[in-house]
Amino acid sequence: MKKCVFCGGNVEKAMVTFTYKDDDKYLFVEHVSADICTRCSEKMYSPKVADELLEFAKNKFKPVKTIKVPVFDFTVHQ
Ligand SMILES: [Zn+2]
Repeated sequence: MKKCVFCGGNVEKAMVTFTYKDDDKYLFVEHVSADICTRCSEKMYSPKVADELLEFAKNKFKPVKTIKVPVFDFTVHQ
């Protein structure tokens, strides 16, 4: 049984949405198979999947859809 590298909790296989951020660039990759920690919810990807996810970050593929994401500023809110 695999253990979480962060907290030692049990991990289980799940389909997750990978989120990537680099400065002002964001992207989501849906339906990625990952191990997710049942204790701390940390997502862990196999080296092969992690490599493939980097290809998405390099704009190698055409997105299937584009979504609008609202952005808030907490300091303006206060
Ligand atoms: Zn954990």
